[in-house]
Amino acid sequence: MCVRLRRLDAVLQMQADSGELREWPLTGIRISPRLASTPRTLKLPDGGWLEIPDDPLLDSWFSRPSSRIEAWVDRLERHRYAILTAAFLTVALAVAFIQYGLPWAALKVAERIPESVEKSSSNQVVAALERLHIKPSALPEARQRQLQADFRALVAGEPRAEQMQLLLVDAEAVGPNAFALPDGRIYMTDQLIELAQSDDELLAILAHEAGHHVHRHGMRNALESTSIFLLVGLLLGDASGSSLAVALPATLLGNSFSRGHESEADAYAFDLLLRRGRSPEDFAVAMERIATAMDIGDGQGGYLDDGVLGYLSSHPPSRARIEAARRAAQSKSGQDAH
Ligand SMILES: [Zn+2]
Repeated sequence: MCVRLRRLDAVLQMQADSGELREWPLTGIRISPRLASTPRTLKLPDGGWLEIPDDPLLDSWFSRPSSRIEAWVDRLERHRYAILTAAFLTVALAVAFIQYGLPWAALKVAERIPESVEKSSSNQVVAALERLHIKPSALPEARQRQLQADFRALVAGEPRAEQMQLLLVDAEAVGPNAFALPDGRIYMTDQLIELAQSDDELLAILAHEAGHHVHRHGMRNALESTSIFLLVGLLLGDASGSSLAVALPATLLGNSFSRGHESEADAYAFDLLLRRGRSPEDFAVAMERIATAMDIGDGQGGYLDDGVLGYLSSHPPSRARIEAARRAAQSKSGQDAH
């Protein structure tokens, strides 16, 4: 049915093409909110309704108190540019959250994780390591004692140093490597000790491993790859929850440290070495030696693919890291010259 609407003062008059004429008081009619160019609906006092195309006249006829949100939504819908901006902002927010929010939440949770959970998670990693036939170090007792003493002197007084424990192991399958578990156990292989040309190089690598422990990278890394819902639950609730005990070991095993964590541990190591009167140059030399031994001599990065544990591929030597170490060493010698 086709109708014609007309306003007569405070009355809405409808004339149908059949000639039928009806009238209602304007105040008794409810009009649907304006939404872009969608049709408007008039609810009539007698329970009937009219659906009509939107027209600027309608809003002057019906002075309904329009809500701010409705007006805002309407404006958005009328402006494609605004819609695109809103979509872009949504994506940007999501990216920013993953980039900064998630690591922040992971750090906050990691700081609240009790040592007992760090220990039990690390035990799971140790159990997996046993498959690689890791044996106690074959080095002479005196040599081991000396490395242990050097390590203790290196980390003495550092944050969380009392939890740190150096484990010297013979691990042919792992090769020249060192790595830190979340509870402060730091492994170094005889194969790495053999490869290094000086203990200064070994201590530079151990300073880097200590950095992973100081900054809680093991837990943070595992938490960052844990579901955000679990993470938020942990933030709001109890960090020793059983869901954590189930989720963490799997992610601990499956992940290597992110590049961000590597450079954070590097920066810590450079600073520690300088404070101990050592030089980050030792770190650069050690990285180059490992890169050559791993046959990725161009030092362009790439991961040690041991095929067993992503955990062991945590320290890809890269040109950028070696250069950062040299810059740190030079900035120190520059200061000395003044
Ligand atoms: Zn590392």
